[in-house]
Amino acid sequence: MLSIYNSLSKQKEEFIPLNPDHVKFYSCGPTVYNKIHIGNARAFISADLLSKVLKGIYPKVTYVSNITDIDDKIIKAAKEENLTIKELTKKYFDLYMQDIGLIGINPPDIQPFATNFITEMIEYIERLISLEKAYEIDGNVLFRVNAFKNYGCLSGRKIDEQEHGKRVEIESYKENENDFTLWKPSQKDEPGWDSPWGYGRPGWHLECSVMSEITLDIPFDIHGGGNDLKFPHHENEIAQSCACNGLDNARDFAKYWVHNGFLNLESEKMSKSLGNVIYIEDLIKEYKGNHIRLALLSTQYRQPIPWSKTLLDQAKTISNKISDFIDKNEFVEPKFIASTNIAAALFDDLNTPKAIRIMQDFVQDSKFIKDEVATFKYIFEGSTQDTTIDKNTIQEIEKLINERNQARIDGDYVLADKIRDKLSKMNVSIKDVDGKTEWKI
Ligand SMILES: [Zn+2]
Repeated sequence: MLSIYNSLSKQKEEFIPLNPDHVKFYSCGPTVYNKIHIGNARAFISADLLSKVLKGIYPKVTYVSNITDIDDKIIKAAKEENLTIKELTKKYFDLYMQDIGLIGINPPDIQPFATNFITEMIEYIERLISLEKAYEIDGNVLFRVNAFKNYGCLSGRKIDEQEHGKRVEIESYKENENDFTLWKPSQKDEPGWDSPWGYGRPGWHLECSVMSEITLDIPFDIHGGGNDLKFPHHENEIAQSCACNGLDNARDFAKYWVHNGFLNLESEKMSKSLGNVIYIEDLIKEYKGNHIRLALLSTQYRQPIPWSKTLLDQAKTISNKISDFIDKNEFVEPKFIASTNIAAALFDDLNTPKAIRIMQDFVQDSKFIKDEVATFKYIFEGSTQDTTIDKNTIQEIEKLINERNQARIDGDYVLADKIRDKLSKMNVSIKDVDGKTEWKI
């Protein structure tokens, strides 16, 4: 029923899960060193959309999205803000959770933090070295790209092509200029861990190979991320995971590779006045979460979004019109109904603009079809929050809800109930609807 575009085959394919009783999806999450902007939000909303559709179809779906909490950009930002790495990553993780919540993005089922997997990453590197897929030199460990014969299978870049005509000086310690870092040395005043290769820290590509394998087992169904991650990040993940597990084919690591398009700031005025970066926390002063959500979903996820104030204003008008129509009729719980026209549009490579048009036509013709409305609400009406509530309060509530959801995933119902009590003491009532927690003050 569902077809998605697979970047590996460069065509739309029917989605056939490895195990229909448990569908597994991994998407690359944020590096938590600054606030997320609207361009970042596009990748997260695309993953959220796919996970919602999968959860609407299959009885059990595990959606994993990692948190990169060690990285050169983090080290630099911590110095600039005069915070420890832990303080900085906590601050921006909390802001990330708050911002995605404002536009109706559900937290992933599992959010592994890179720094909680250092031991496993070291073991992974040791395995690659023992298989002669990686080599150590002066405290650096590098992946030997020539050791994976299908390198380039996702991006189409071949090792020879990249070498040809390039005038970049190869770092002296590399056997091949495309060899990439699995481990690098840290200075004494930088964060690091002891390893067989000295005090250092892992390379970024490694964390997704290790954490996807540990949280989902391989092969899993879908690996997602932004177009910009295809090369080198995903190409390198494929090389590591296949090399480490004796696999030749990227599909034996993850069967479908899904990538979202960019978001382009259209209006010069808009990008100038906002310093070329638009933050959710600024947009939310003027627009509701649902307006921003609809604007982001008004373009199919693979196409570039020409982002402008006009687009946002149009989304606001459409969203309000649809909400008014729905509110005038009886209350319908959000729910994904596979037999609807809206679901049919989504089954065609997540065609959200078509789904929105279908709903607009129902409004135009005053046709209130409960199943269609339920499906529309499930996908497009993520946010129920009153944005006049103080930001810190929202942040605290979101944090507690996430902790409660994690406790429920872990089976710790005593803790989950305690958090619920705490929320009710804050006059927050919560309601669990279709795996999503809604709250009201
Ligand atoms: Zn990744």
